[in-house]
Amino acid sequence: MTLAPLAQSRLLLTAIPGPRSIALHAEREKQVTTGFGVALPIFVERAQGAILQDVDGNRIIDFASGIAVTSVGASNPRVQAHVGEQLEKFTHTCFMVTEYDSFTAVCRWLNEHTPGDFEKRTALFSTGSEAIENAVKVARSATGRQRVLVFDDAYHGRSLLTMAMTAKENPYKLNFGPFPTEVVRAPFASPLRWPTGAENATADALAAVERILAQNGPETFAAMVVEPIQGEGGFIVPSPGFLPGLRDIATKHGIVLVLDEVQAGMGRTGALFASDYEQIAGDITVTAKALGGGLPLSAITGRIELMNAVHTGGLGGTYAGNPLACAAALGVFEALEDGSLVENARRIEVSARDILEPLRRATSIVADVRGRGAMLAVEFADTVTLLPRADLTKKIAALCHANGLLVLICGTFSNVLRLLPPLVIEENVLNEGLTLLRDMIQQVSDSANAAQMETVTA
Ligand SMILES: *Cc1c(COP(=O)(O)O)cnc(C)c1O
Repeated sequence: MTLAPLAQSRLLLTAIPGPRSIALHAEREKQVTTGFGVALPIFVERAQGAILQDVDGNRIIDFASGIAVTSVGASNPRVQAHVGEQLEKFTHTCFMVTEYDSFTAVCRWLNEHTPGDFEKRTALFSTGSEAIENAVKVARSATGRQRVLVFDDAYHGRSLLTMAMTAKENPYKLNFGPFPTEVVRAPFASPLRWPTGAENATADALAAVERILAQNGPETFAAMVVEPIQGEGGFIVPSPGFLPGLRDIATKHGIVLVLDEVQAGMGRTGALFASDYEQIAGDITVTAKALGGGLPLSAITGRIELMNAVHTGGLGGTYAGNPLACAAALGVFEALEDGSLVENARRIEVSARDILEPLRRATSIVADVRGRGAMLAVEFADTVTLLPRADLTKKIAALCHANGLLVLICGTFSNVLRLLPPLVIEENVLNEGLTLLRDMIQQVSDSANAAQMETVTA
């Protein structure tokens, strides 16, 4: 069956959500646990490039990419071709039972392309959380130490160990404890909200890391796990020098530096990996999300002496590196091959900053426009007091959704709108989405100002 191409344009035929989505959502509520939330309750019929088509025939501009997964575009033809071919041959053997070469090919690409000029080995898994857990397992096995250093506002997943490593209680951890011990948290050099000013963030945060290590005994730490750009925590780019500082501290104390590139990696930020911007390499680099182009695949890639320190049989998983997921990754690698998509990510940043930066002056609610490449965010807060405005963020997201633009909220204070368009997004679609977003922000800012005037004059 070959479908006609999906038009890369926004189209609203009904209210969002439309009647068919509303009916399907009502049925969902009868069948599905309420434990799953949903950002926008529309039911998708098709997705291609940067457009989601719902069951009511509406075409939505996608600034989410399924949380940075379909970076090479929804239904990327190269991904489809590889997966289709694999689907005809076989779907599963379990790599621990019998082997297939696509697993090796994915590992080879990651060994060659992840930062670090040293010999590497790779292990494949299915989810980001699973990969992070395995990075900790490898670090513990290789060092004989137990502790893990993580950071404020970090997000590493929803499994028990990764919940412990994740910072935010609600919704990720609430009522789900007790958690594994030996997880210690340190400040992250967040420029906007650093108490003594952005210019002090790097030095202060690194000093805090050193003090926390000294307090707990640096020789008790197996790993230091850090997102080179924080994802769920608010798309926070650490102040310059923080990551290289962590690299030095980890090396000095024999701690394995694990870079969680699950959200930021695979071209998203305008470099193949976000850590490339500060020219550092983790001892282990963790990838997932965009790696499988929409199929569940994750990986840890690290120094051979770490990765091979684990006893044979110590790592694995029934679906780890599933053949369909590996085939999808080979399609992703092909799509990234000529560098044009990574370049697009940088082009997306330029367009987005052109349209969104002026809002810092034009409104009193845009406290920050930040990010790299196609991993961008707008933080809403009182621009003087930095009081977070989750209420306005929610309003702006709702207006975008109602107008056919899918955006996601993140941040410890739920006051950050994040933009994660697929890297294949066409210029006119991107600009339409950005203009719409700008207008919605302006509208909400104006009505917030009007409301404030009313309380002042009342
Ligand atoms: C999404 C994410 C994870 C967890 O990945 P899952 O596939 O959802 O388990 C871990 N780290 C970061 C930075 C993420 O964005």
